[in-house]
Amino acid sequence: MRYEQAKKYWEQQSELMKKIRAGGMAEYVKTIPNLAQGFTLADRWLRCIDEGTAGGVHMAGSGILLGVEAAAGAARAAGATTITSHEECGAAKLYAKEKGLDEEKSDTYGQEFARDLAKKLGVNYCHLPLSEMARPAGLHVARVAYYDGTGKFDPARVPELPAGFVISRRYLKPDYARRECEIAISIALGHHGFGELFTEDTPFILVVVGDPKEKMFSLGSLRTEVEEIARAHGGRVAVDAFVSPVQK
Ligand SMILES: [Zn+2]
Repeated sequence: MRYEQAKKYWEQQSELMKKIRAGGMAEYVKTIPNLAQGFTLADRWLRCIDEGTAGGVHMAGSGILLGVEAAAGAARAAGATTITSHEECGAAKLYAKEKGLDEEKSDTYGQEFARDLAKKLGVNYCHLPLSEMARPAGLHVARVAYYDGTGKFDPARVPELPAGFVISRRYLKPDYARRECEIAISIALGHHGFGELFTEDTPFILVVVGDPKEKMFSLGSLRTEVEEIARAHGGRVAVDAFVSPVQK
């Protein structure tokens, strides 16, 4: 039953993904009239990289793997105004596992962390249940992860773009951003994601979103970072890229 559900969500996106794979992301986004809409954030809430928690700025589990001090630094840089936690958080699960804690209670640890971080920053805290998330319970439907060099990208604001994890590389150190990429890949390729449906012919795609003005966050420099990550996954992870439209 679970496989059938996954297959259904996979097939819903197959035509779109074929189109993207055929000409590449840079060509595909030229056909989207309102692409600029994806670069105007509706808020600056800190949300997980989970494709179900769209909008604002992102850190896996709101930074739970970094700890409060380092997460606070990144959240300040990102201008986060509210810190969120969410139901079924894979990053909180990983945290519980790494700390030898009860994995069944991982969402509780995620909530505690987000609450502590909000307190540290003097901003609001908000928990997002599955009913307020943009994915089905128990299944990650992302076929891509966006590696965002602009810090203001929200694919959910552009219906023509595939849903995906969002890694706010703009506000993260490269080695930690790499870790978030690995988390997204392990979720997508694992049993909470599309798993075996990702193959060399239909890979999970790391999509670099380059900044047209900042060399440090340009398509070229970020592409080098993610290519190294993708290489380790034997063809089941591919890299694609496009540049944000220049804002007037
Ligand atoms: Zn999460």
